Amino acid sequence: MTDTHCPYCALQCAMTLTATTATTPATADRPMLPVTVAGRDFPTNRGGLCKKGWTSAELLADTGRLTTPLVRGDDGELHPAEWDAALDLIAAHVRTIAAEDGPDAIGVFGGGGLTNEKAYQLGKFARIALRTSRIDYNGRFCMSSAAAAANRSFGIDRGLPFPLTDLDTAETVLLLGSNVGDTMPPFVSHLQGARARGGLIVVDPRRSSTARLCADGAGIHVQPVPGSDLALLLALTHVVIAEELYDDGYVRQRTSGIEALRQSVSAWWPERAETVTGVPARSIRELARTLARSDSTYILTGRGVEQHVDGTDTATAAINLALLLGLPGTPGCGYGTLTGQGNGQGGREHGQKADQLPGYQSITDPAARASVAAVWGVDPDDLPGPGVPAVELLQSAGLPGGVRALLVHGSNVFVSAPNVQTVREALGRLELLVVSDFLLSETARAADIVLPVLQWAEEEGTMTNLEGRVLRRRRAVDAPAGTRSELWIMAELARRLDAPGVWSLEPSEVFDELARASAGGRADYSGLSHALLDLGIEAHWPFPLGSLGTPRLFADRFAHADGRATLVAVRARTPEPATGDGLTLITGRLLEQYQSGAQTRRIPELTEKRPSLVAQLHPATARRHGIAEGDGIRLSNVRGEVRARAELTHDIRPDTVFLPFHYADAESANLLTSDRVDPHSAMPEFKRALVQVSAV
Ligand code: SF4
Repeated sequence: MTDTHCPYCALQCAMTLTATTATTPATADRPMLPVTVAGRDFPTNRGGLCKKGWTSAELLADTGRLTTPLVRGDDGELHPAEWDAALDLIAAHVRTIAAEDGPDAIGVFGGGGLTNEKAYQLGKFARIALRTSRIDYNGRFCMSSAAAAANRSFGIDRGLPFPLTDLDTAETVLLLGSNVGDTMPPFVSHLQGARARGGLIVVDPRRSSTARLCADGAGIHVQPVPGSDLALLLALTHVVIAEELYDDGYVRQRTSGIEALRQSVSAWWPERAETVTGVPARSIRELARTLARSDSTYILTGRGVEQHVDGTDTATAAINLALLLGLPGTPGCGYGTLTGQGNGQGGREHGQKADQLPGYQSITDPAARASVAAVWGVDPDDLPGPGVPAVELLQSAGLPGGVRALLVHGSNVFVSAPNVQTVREALGRLELLVVSDFLLSETARAADIVLPVLQWAEEEGTMTNLEGRVLRRRRAVDAPAGTRSELWIMAELARRLDAPGVWSLEPSEVFDELARASAGGRADYSGLSHALLDLGIEAHWPFPLGSLGTPRLFADRFAHADGRATLVAVRARTPEPATGDGLTLITGRLLEQYQSGAQTRRIPELTEKRPSLVAQLHPATARRHGIAEGDGIRLSNVRGEVRARAELTHDIRPDTVFLPFHYADAESANLLTSDRVDPHSAMPEFKRALVQVSAV
C-alpha cells in the first residue's frame, strides 16, 4: 500500500494506492488496473475523493500510454525512435539555433502539474543549460493575477495563508468566482459551518453547483453581469467606508494607503454599481453590512474573477475589502485565493515563471541571483534576465524575435491557450517543437519530437497544495519500459549541451538543492527534505532551516518591509456589452473533467455524461434564437467558431452562454476567448468574450 495524493487538482486529496492481485477482477472491456484507489483521511479531504480522484488509476492502464520517443519523419508522421537518437536530434537543433540567433531563440514552457522537483529543474535547465530567458508556464493562465495582487498587497503570495480547516468554523464565507462544488468537491465540507449559519455568499454569473449550495437559507447567490466583479467590490468597499463599518484600529496599525483607497471608491455608490453589475444597490449595501457584522469572515477568490484583463485589480479589490474588515491574520478570519492546478502553488515558486528564480525570488534581484547562482555553480552574470509571459512567448513563436524551438513539459497549450488558433498556428511555424508527456495530447500530436515520461504514481517527488502545504508524491507502480523521468531527460540534454552544474536523477537530491536555492526567498523550503516530509509533519512554507513551518501567515506582520499590508487604489472599467443578438460567453469547468481534459477525457466514467461539447443557454435566449434542448448550435466571433449541443437551463443569465474549456480541436472553447492580457499579471481574458449564437 502506498500513501500518496491525487494526480489532479490543488486540493491534493490524500489517497492510498493498493497493488491489485491476480484475483482482482478486470472490467469487461479494459485491462486490469495496477492499483485500487481509496481515499485517505487528511485535513483537506477527510477521506473523500471526487469522481476524478476515484478513477485516477485508469491513467496507469491507459492503452494510449507512450513508451518510446517519437520523431516526425519526412512523411510528416511521428515514428518510434531510440532515446539517444531523439535527444541527439534535440541537442543538435538547439545548438544550431542558439549559434545563429542566440539562446533566446529557444523557449521552454512548463506546467503547474509538475512536481516541485521538476518545476525547479526546468527553470535551472532553461537558464544554465539552454541559457535562455524564454521560459514561462501554464500557471500564467491560472494563478498569475491572484499572485500579482497578493504580492503587491501582502508582499507574499500563498494561495491560502491559513489551513483549510480554519474555514470549518466560519460564520460567513464570501466566495468570488469559484465553483468548488465541481472543481474540488471535498472542499465543500469546509463550507458546512458557514452554510449552517446561512453565511455562504457565492458571487457567480451562473448558478453553478456551488451557487446552489446557498439554497434553503444556507446563503446568498449574487449573479452579476460577467466581468463586473471589480465594480461590485468597489461598491462594497464604498459602503464599508461610507458607513464606517471598517476595523479602524486594524487599518491604522496594520495597513497603509487608506486615504488613496477612500478617494478611489468615493464615487462607487451602490446605485452606480447597480447599473454596471446588475446587482441591486439594496443588496450591495446589505451584503457589505453582513460581511462587517460577522465575527468570523473569510473572503476567497477564484479564476472567475481573476481571469480578466482587470483580474489583478479585481483580486486587489477583494484584498482591500478584506483588509478594511481586518480579516487577514486575525484568528477565525482571512483572505485567500483557491489555486487550481495540482501543483499550481509550487509550480509558481521554483523558477518556471519568466521573472522568477527558486524560492519565489525576483530574477532581477542581485542578491537572489548571487545566491541561486552559487547553488547552481555558475556566475550570476551568466544568468539571463526576465523572459516574456506565456501568451507573448507562444504567439511570437516562429516570428522574427520569437523562439524558433520550444520544449513543452506538462502542458497542453493546443487546448488551454487563449485565442488558441493563433497559438496552434504559431507553434506550427516552429522549427522544433518538443513535447514531454505520458499520453499523446493534442499538443504532442503536433510536435516534431515527443518524449514519453513518467506519470504521478510512477514517480517520487513533492507537490505544494492550495494551503502552501508541501506533500510527498510517492511511487506505487513501476513505470513502463521505455519511459523516462523529466529529471533524466534534462540531465541527458544538459550533458549533450556541455552545461555546467549538477543534474541529479534522484528527486530527493533535487529537492535538497531546491531547498538550498530557495533559502531567504519568500517561499523558503530550506528546512525541508523528503526524509522530514516522510515523517508526516505539517509542512506549510515558509519553512526555513530550524523552523516548524508557517500554517498561518500575517499574524504579526505582512511581508512588506514595513510589516504593513498595502491598500492599493484600483479603478474599474465598464465591461463592453454584447450588442444586437450577441451574448457574453463565460467559460468554466465540469465536475468530470480536469483542465485541458488530456487525461480525463480518456476515462469512460468521466466522459459518458458529456462526451462532446455542451453549451448552457437560458431557455428564453434559446427561444429567441430558435434553439431547442439538444440542438446543435454554432458559437462564433472574430477569432473563430465552435459547434456544441445546447443545454437549456435557468441557471444561466439570459445574456450569457457557458462553455466548459476541457474539449479539444474544433470543440475548444478557447477558439473564442480573447488573448488580451492583464497589464500587471499578463493573465489573458479567459472568462469573458462576446459571441454570436445560432442554430446549426
Ligand atoms: Fe483529486 Fe481534486 Fe478531486 Fe481531490 S478534489 S479527488 S484532488 S481532483
